Amino acid sequence: MSIKVQRRKLDKSRAHFKEAVQHLPLGVSSNFRFWGEDETVFVKHGKGARLWDLDGNEYIDYRLGYGPAILGHCHPEVDAAAREGQSVGTVFALGTEKEVTVAKLIKEMMPAADLVRFSNSGTEAVMAALRLARGYTGKDNYVTFEGSYHGLFDATMWTADPEDMKDQSKDPKVIPYGQGIPQLVRNLFYQVPYNDAQRLEDVLKKHHDSIAAVLIEPILGNCCGIPSKPEFIKAVRALCTKYNVIMIVDEVKTGFRVGRGGAQALYGIEADIFTVAKAVANGYPISAIGGKEEIMRKYGKGVAHGGTYTAQAMSLAAAEKTLTILRDTDALEVIANYGKAMQEGMHKVLTKRGIPHSFTGHHSMSGLFFSAEAPTTYRNWKLSDYTFYDTMAGYLIDMGVMCEPDSREPWFISSAHDQKCLDETLQKFEEAVDLTLD
Ligand code: PLP
Repeated sequence: MSIKVQRRKLDKSRAHFKEAVQHLPLGVSSNFRFWGEDETVFVKHGKGARLWDLDGNEYIDYRLGYGPAILGHCHPEVDAAAREGQSVGTVFALGTEKEVTVAKLIKEMMPAADLVRFSNSGTEAVMAALRLARGYTGKDNYVTFEGSYHGLFDATMWTADPEDMKDQSKDPKVIPYGQGIPQLVRNLFYQVPYNDAQRLEDVLKKHHDSIAAVLIEPILGNCCGIPSKPEFIKAVRALCTKYNVIMIVDEVKTGFRVGRGGAQALYGIEADIFTVAKAVANGYPISAIGGKEEIMRKYGKGVAHGGTYTAQAMSLAAAEKTLTILRDTDALEVIANYGKAMQEGMHKVLTKRGIPHSFTGHHSMSGLFFSAEAPTTYRNWKLSDYTFYDTMAGYLIDMGVMCEPDSREPWFISSAHDQKCLDETLQKFEEAVDLTLD
């Protein structure tokens, strides 16, 4: 990360940081929001595709809270619905009517959603999905893919060790994302390279008797947006069926973003269990687990699930409004068209300067990669040189284009991004590229 503070004043954010750090570790509530003592930005407010920091600096936002604000910040209809939802009350330790309304919407829009359960965050949903798969199959182990992110719980906070990748003839060591994750968990899962169905089959053939689930992100939303090759994700589906293993498709980022039916519809596959979260309620905290009836009915037949805040009224009301808008309007087409036009504009700028590049992911959530060939696995992304991206992103943020500073996360588009945002972004992009080349 190389954030510049040359054009902006960050006096108020810096003063706030000095106070915040006395009360909050790193001065923030997520390690990833800390960008350095002098670089950490605090938000005053957001509106549409833009946000403003404490110093009044304005940014076009391509992070959108890591994706959720799909209709833009402070969407008037969604916020009004949320306020009305709140008037029902907050939590009751009882069900409310809107659970059914929103479950029906999810069932209508997503493939493979015979039944739906709500939770609050992506992490919670994936955790619940994994338990459900284990409860249903009576098996404990699972398979994940290198470069995936499925949330903050111990079972999935593991990655292929970048320090152990130089020798491509062998698999890298799999290490936890930081301290506090018990080594014992490592005995429970297999990790295989993304977009490599043969390697998955090797594992399933040998170990399917102990494997409950294959957990897959259809697009690696925390690894430069690397997408599944269509033949790969279809093979994953077929292999799960062949070896009697549950396919969990983690659509926390892709659900209701890459299409009304998420990545499953895009690729023409059906999960056994899937998770959705970010785009469900335009940023209000809610997630859902959906899946095949026989599996989902295990809730109530031995598999525990619940939570004080699950299906709270405000988020449900926001979800109803958000999903209705995504279903009934051209918001997703507007988003995809914007993403396409942005890529075309960037392509022109980079081609003019002879800079090799490629785009990954989907137009609504795409990664920019400075090599002619797009990465297809975590290994070839991690071994690439992304200093050009990091430097360029640092300039862009300083100019008021809030892209992801470290190239892992894709650029997210909302339906509030308009022509003015696009023109401004491309003009600043050109400037940032030239500054990076200097
Ligand atoms: N799954 C995927 C694919 C994600 O991208 C994320 C978050 O980025 C999660 C799960 C965890 O979601 P949350 O941060 O809401 O817990």
